[in-house]
Amino acid sequence: MTRRFFCYDLRGPVTAIAISVDPAHDTPGSARRFLAKVDSAEQTINSLNPDVEVVKYKTRLDASNIMEIIDGYDVIVDGADNFPTRYLLNDATVRLGIPVVSASILGFDGQLSVFAPYEGPCYRCLYPTPPPAELAPSCGANGVLGVLPGTMGMLQATEVIKLITGSGEPLIGRLLLYDALGATFTELKVRRDPNCPICSRDPDSISEEEMGKFPDYEAFCAG
Ligand SMILES: [Zn+2]
Repeated sequence: MTRRFFCYDLRGPVTAIAISVDPAHDTPGSARRFLAKVDSAEQTINSLNPDVEVVKYKTRLDASNIMEIIDGYDVIVDGADNFPTRYLLNDATVRLGIPVVSASILGFDGQLSVFAPYEGPCYRCLYPTPPPAELAPSCGANGVLGVLPGTMGMLQATEVIKLITGSGEPLIGRLLLYDALGATFTELKVRRDPNCPICSRDPDSISEEEMGKFPDYEAFCAG
């Protein structure tokens, strides 16, 4: 599957970037199936609200471009479908102090949390290391309930609005688990790891060379 990401730049003082590999744009029979996802996303966003300025990055997010791309945005919406991108994004956002509204889905389950650098735990505090490649589940191999991206995406959008407006209680330090089959939500407390390799340090000490890296990085990244 070709993985791309897009971002949208809201006019005004608030900007947000969304990182997505949403396969909905590739639905067979869709007139947009030959469009790049960033172009399809732009069409969808502008059909909903033509005043939204969409800034497209038609490239894969990696260590060489992430700092330049995400710097200056107020919020990041993470919908990446692979562990290397999630860890890379975590390390770069901790360095830059940008909150991430993170969601993931697999099968009939979804997870949601907000990672606010130095205010709450980061992604590495919650998941210190990625699973081995042979155990890393993928939506392509395991499938996902078709409505789950929409369910989790709306929950993400809600958290973005709360962060932007300063309303309510953002999902910082909390992991929300959604069991679609059981129709249940479960909340887990997540604390900062005082030994976290990233957010236990001063942000200026996090070098670009070490972002997203693990001793066995190539092994789990290969797939
Ligand atoms: Zn951390």
